[in-house]
Amino acid sequence: MKVAVVGCTHAGTFAIKQILSDYKDVEVTVFERNAEISFLSCGIALYLGGQVKDPQGLFYSNPDELNELGASIKLKHNVREIDSKNHTLEVENLLTNEVTIEHYDKLIMTTGSWPIVPNIPGIQSKKVLLCKNWTHAQELFERVPKVKKIAVIGAGYIGAELVEAYSLKGHEVILIDAQDRVMPKYFDPSFTDKIENDFKNNGVQLELGQSVQRFEEKAGELMIETDKKTITADLAILCIGFRPNTDLLTGKVEMTPNGAIITDDYMRSSDPDIFAAGDSAAVHYNPTGKNAYIPLATNAVRQGILVGKNLKKPVLRYMGTQSTSGLSLYGTSICSTGLTAEAAKMQGIDAEHVIFEDNYRPEFMPSTTPVLMSLVYDAVTRRILGGALMSKYDISQSANLLSLCIQNKNTIDDLAMVDMLFQPTFDRPFNYLNLLGQAAQAQLEKNRSKEVFAN
Ligand SMILES: Cc1cc2nc3c(=O)[nH]c(=O)nc-3n(C[C@H](O)[C@H](O)[C@H](O)COP(=O)(O)OP(=O)(O)OC[C@H]3O[C@@H](n4cnc5c(N)ncnc54)[C@H](O)[C@@H]3O)c2cc1C
Repeated sequence: MKVAVVGCTHAGTFAIKQILSDYKDVEVTVFERNAEISFLSCGIALYLGGQVKDPQGLFYSNPDELNELGASIKLKHNVREIDSKNHTLEVENLLTNEVTIEHYDKLIMTTGSWPIVPNIPGIQSKKVLLCKNWTHAQELFERVPKVKKIAVIGAGYIGAELVEAYSLKGHEVILIDAQDRVMPKYFDPSFTDKIENDFKNNGVQLELGQSVQRFEEKAGELMIETDKKTITADLAILCIGFRPNTDLLTGKVEMTPNGAIITDDYMRSSDPDIFAAGDSAAVHYNPTGKNAYIPLATNAVRQGILVGKNLKKPVLRYMGTQSTSGLSLYGTSICSTGLTAEAAKMQGIDAEHVIFEDNYRPEFMPSTTPVLMSLVYDAVTRRILGGALMSKYDISQSANLLSLCIQNKNTIDDLAMVDMLFQPTFDRPFNYLNLLGQAAQAQLEKNRSKEVFAN
């Protein structure tokens, strides 16, 4: 069987390794337009902030490793056309410009995503940079340290991490976003208010609730015109989101409105010989039970493995995702999973939202620190739909536990009483997550008694 893999970052690398480990009779050819594979973009801000010393450590595989496992790796090869009827690819060798036609029995689309670049005047300026792959990273590493004033456009995770890194390095930083809060997709206002305060306390100029209309270079500076004002900077970094890189299959397989390839539980597209995984594919979002576009490495590596496992016959189902994610800003860990209260409302779900804050361990210990928590749950079924945590204490594994609760359809009552260890070094007799579940129960009880009283 001839397998062609298009794209070799996370989904591609994991799919290739799984295929080569599970099958000995498969010929795997990998086409990657870049000169490198498996770059961890999440390390860009960590390197810029000085936590990662050597960016070469951000590659966890290499062509030699995959060659040794038995794959044929064709770097600097761009797939230009896919003929899904005849099972062929038109491939250009970017070093020689030679074009060849390659046959496949099974095609694996791990072509990922590309930053959204809106069609606004001046956006092609060399002073507007992107932040996605190793080429972008090198440009950021090279150019940004030489300038003073940086505008980051887009206050999602990536923008927030860049802003933190640059503000800690002493740059003047401006954060621009069309939304009136930072990271509104992941956190409700009780969290984003605190995050915004941290940004301001670190000298970041927040320019929220305004959208960029045009860029213009003037006297060596970049003028960024929004619908409210003109902001000047030396460089701007655009991070307003991603779109799937799937034009090659438009009209050939089923896709979501934004172009993410829809797969079944075994990562097969509507064409039985084409699999998709990672940022090129939609995910099954467990909190709503619907398809969604959530470009995260977590999804890419899991889906990549599933492609390998299910290549010849369906054996392992996709579990879906809660879109669990986290970041650390100015020493505070901020993590989320599932739906925010706002997102639940937009989905038309009758959801309740409780906010609870408590020290993670008893006050008699030499130190303790507060954990801010939120829980979003279905008011009727009491099922947990989402949660978030924020603390100077490392609460990342608690976000993972809430993710498991959503995955397993647990209720607030399960969370309130589930067995969790107690030892004062770690927590109180009830762990702070138990207490969060109990806060939700108390809130629901209070709402019910108000209803009874009103009737
Ligand atoms: C700055 C940054 C920080 C991030 N941090 C996190 C994080 O902390 N946690 C997390 O879970 N996720 C994070 N992500 C998201 C994560 O990086 C992506 O979800 C992940 O890269 C997706 O992997 P992928 O293999 O599906 O696609 P991609 O990484 O987009 O790779 C696709 C590959 O396909 C190749 N390709 C595309 N088209 C063709 C073609 N026609 N021919 C040949 N090759 C082609 C591309 O060159 C590319 O190498 C971050 C992303 C960025 C940009």
